[in-house]
Amino acid sequence: MSESTVPVTASGHTSEWTPDSWRSKPIKQCPEYPDQKALSKSLAELQRLPPIVHPKEITRLKALLRDVARGEAFLLQGGDCAELFDYCEQGAIESKIKLLLQMSLVLIWGADKRVVRIGRMAGQYAKPRSSPMEMLDGKMVPSFRGDILNGFHPDERELDPGRLVKAYHHSSATLNYIRAAISSGIADLHRPLDWGLGHVRDPALKAKYSEAVNFLTDMLRFMHTIGADKNEKLDTVDLFTSHEGLLLEYEQSLTRLLDNPAHTPSSTTTTTKAKEYYNTSAHFLWIGDRTRQIDGAHVEFFRGIANPIGVKVGPTTPADDLLALLRTLNPSREPGKITLITRYGAAKVADLLPAHIRAVEDSEYARTVVWQCDPMHGNTQSVSGGIKTRAFSDIFSELQQTLRIHKEQRSYLGGVHLELTGDAVTECLGGSEGLDEDDLSTNYTSFCDPRLNEKQALELTFLVADHYRN
Ligand code: PEP
Ligand code: MN
Repeated sequence: MSESTVPVTASGHTSEWTPDSWRSKPIKQCPEYPDQKALSKSLAELQRLPPIVHPKEITRLKALLRDVARGEAFLLQGGDCAELFDYCEQGAIESKIKLLLQMSLVLIWGADKRVVRIGRMAGQYAKPRSSPMEMLDGKMVPSFRGDILNGFHPDERELDPGRLVKAYHHSSATLNYIRAAISSGIADLHRPLDWGLGHVRDPALKAKYSEAVNFLTDMLRFMHTIGADKNEKLDTVDLFTSHEGLLLEYEQSLTRLLDNPAHTPSSTTTTTKAKEYYNTSAHFLWIGDRTRQIDGAHVEFFRGIANPIGVKVGPTTPADDLLALLRTLNPSREPGKITLITRYGAAKVADLLPAHIRAVEDSEYARTVVWQCDPMHGNTQSVSGGIKTRAFSDIFSELQQTLRIHKEQRSYLGGVHLELTGDAVTECLGGSEGLDEDDLSTNYTSFCDPRLNEKQALELTFLVADHYRN
């Protein structure tokens, strides 16, 4: 087909898509590998390896997200900012699964809705960076770009294509253990849960949390007594995986043309395609705030994959871009296909979110998107010594304002997107433990953005639950 005869979509995108059509578009955050031969070898290896996730799982998640878009379910997404290969370890995986499960119980109690869980896990290895170089121990070195690209240690900052294949294996091993732990009962509801409320000093807050915990404990005991927890559906839970689809060489290598589970060959009226391109590196992928240019390589790649996808939306997103993005990424207006992950910062959300909601909800895309609040990325600050942190009060404030604004605009806030860990880290300020600047050095282990610890994450969840109950 000649250039001039290629059909053009409303947003100006040519309709010819291939897994590598992104290569002809301008790209941000793209690594320049010095060793192209080693890169080709790694990519060939990735293309040979089996899918990490299955189209059936991707299709199931899409159906669940359709329920979220319709206001019938709630989406909880959380995990590390940068997942290291070292986190592929039993304890770290289990503590994250348990925390996400516990948070989802609180949300079920609060919102009285089913909860869809997605971990930022099993593949969150590539990080966008604002600068290619950074200062480390008084020396300028290439920035750490995530374990899939280079190592954190100053001697390992050179880009290494061998890490692409290592990422595949760590992602598969992590997901393998998630599946094994879940199918073996890690999420059994009759196990006593440690709600660890000892740290909550404020008596009013403590009473509120205790009310929820007592209710949940009673309910779980009752279900156990009547044998309802033997029901297969209650013994197991779904936990889907996600990461930022930043490194397109990797994402392309795991994108495969596979049978569409939703396609029924017998029906002649069906509009579903028999085969679709699935990105089998994760169930859900998102486009980051730095790479969502409408004519850029990332949007081009994402418009061709059948997975549900997220787009980060922030202070630099013009309202007009939102519709152009939706028309490009979801021309058939599938409900639940796109999650808009809003992250403005506590000081800006009230000015910016209403116009974004109106741009979408007054268009042909009304009620098709999942609105999700990421109260982390607009609230990062540096304190003395250059330590990156976030105040729990800012995180909570952005989330609370987002809940209120959606209510006023009669749209539905369908989810939260959090950076968290099951470990007792001291990376974010505040919360009921009252962590202050001096506490940050006690257990600051993040290699990228500061995460909520288990207590802070649970506390935020109680506050969301409380909003829905009142
Ligand atoms: C992230 O989610 O870790 C991230 C980098 O977010 P954003 O693209 O919104 O800045
Ligand atoms: Mn982050």
